[in-house]
Amino acid sequence: MKSKRDSVKIITLGCSKNLVDSEFILAQLDWNGVEIITDSSDDPEYSGQSADEKICDTVIINTCGFIESAKKESIAEILKAVKNKNEGKIKNLFVAGCLSDRYKKELEKDIPEVDKYFGATDKHQTVISILKELGVNYKKELLGERILTTPSHFAYLKISEGCNNPCSFCAIPIMRGIHKSKPLKDILTEAQKLASKGVKELILIGQDTTYWGMDTEGKRNISKLISKLSEINGIEWIRLMYTYPSGFPLKLTNVIRDNEKVCKYIDIPIQHISDRVLKSMRRGITKKNIIKLLNTLREKVPGIAIRTTLLTGYPDETEKDFNELLDFIKEFSFDRLGVFTYSNEEGTLAAKLKDKIPFKEKLLRQKILLDEQRDISANLNKVSVKKVLKVIIDRIENDYYIGRTYKDAPEIDNEVYIDKVKRLKTGKFYDVRIYDYEDFDLFGRPV
Ligand code: SF4
Repeated sequence: MKSKRDSVKIITLGCSKNLVDSEFILAQLDWNGVEIITDSSDDPEYSGQSADEKICDTVIINTCGFIESAKKESIAEILKAVKNKNEGKIKNLFVAGCLSDRYKKELEKDIPEVDKYFGATDKHQTVISILKELGVNYKKELLGERILTTPSHFAYLKISEGCNNPCSFCAIPIMRGIHKSKPLKDILTEAQKLASKGVKELILIGQDTTYWGMDTEGKRNISKLISKLSEINGIEWIRLMYTYPSGFPLKLTNVIRDNEKVCKYIDIPIQHISDRVLKSMRRGITKKNIIKLLNTLREKVPGIAIRTTLLTGYPDETEKDFNELLDFIKEFSFDRLGVFTYSNEEGTLAAKLKDKIPFKEKLLRQKILLDEQRDISANLNKVSVKKVLKVIIDRIENDYYIGRTYKDAPEIDNEVYIDKVKRLKTGKFYDVRIYDYEDFDLFGRPV
């Protein structure tokens, strides 16, 4: 008799934290003999299936519910799967992740064709519930086991779940709950398993990675965690994402500076720089202290690449506030920068404020900041010409090997295009001499 677990496909939306959750589910499914269908297989063009053929038995959509655009994308994916289900291409449709965590009741009413919505901030519990629904037993002994969906030489390492920070615009604590550090031994077990599979770069993620240890070790102890991870054979790069400026543990600068396995790179979203807006956003830090912290990072860690994220169009943001932010990024020259437009998220404190800035104006402010960053990035790239940089190869694309320097996280930062003058291998490091640059990317040849 055919059972629910014959073949399963997971569609992962949103952030790298969601990706890690899906990778845990994939490992459990694989060890239980469930056939895993990867993304490309339901596209007739790829799989040579006719458009009306069965895709798989069960589709699991791991959704994102962070901001308006992400919610729309998740709902569109659910409706696409419902259509496939109505056409008999899939039998079971499960929905998990943040959108399901946040709007389970509404979704059950609005899109009843979905067989099951999983809503729990306890991601571990969600994994167990999904497996149970598939008639698969959760295997404890698989703790830390994942099936990577990233290229096999780098992996995201989620070190905590949830967040204790009170940022007024953010719905993440509503969906992911309060901060919970993953125990040190579980993180090390997972990292060792990843290293044994050939992972060289660990990308540390969480909502606020600098808060790690507050609940389990009684203090912010991310430095200790990073030092322990750097002792693992095979790991060559450790990259730190999602640090929080308020309460930033300065000791961290020592481990970034002195430990050769730690990328001299830090992702530290500041969101804004105007004291008026920072106060309304409840970021717990002032302009003066943000500047002091960023300058300290540059002083203490020579050559550090600083990435930040900004939010524009926040309800209280005046033209003057915005220009203050624009002037600041011109002055400070971040190495890498992303900009989001404010999304009015119900249940957040900021949702009580009138969202009075028209969407067009939000987009315009976002564009102005990104255009400024384009010029800044081009000027920073110019300096790399004739230099030899250490690059990890991520993939091969047309006439180039594509890689990244220590200054670049996957998918969000810049890349290096390397001429195919000799054979290089993905997942390996090479010294590359840069001969040209564009606004964001560099061009080089292997030395
Ligand atoms: S630090 Fe602030 S913006 Fe980031 S997840 Fe926590 S509450 Fe949200």
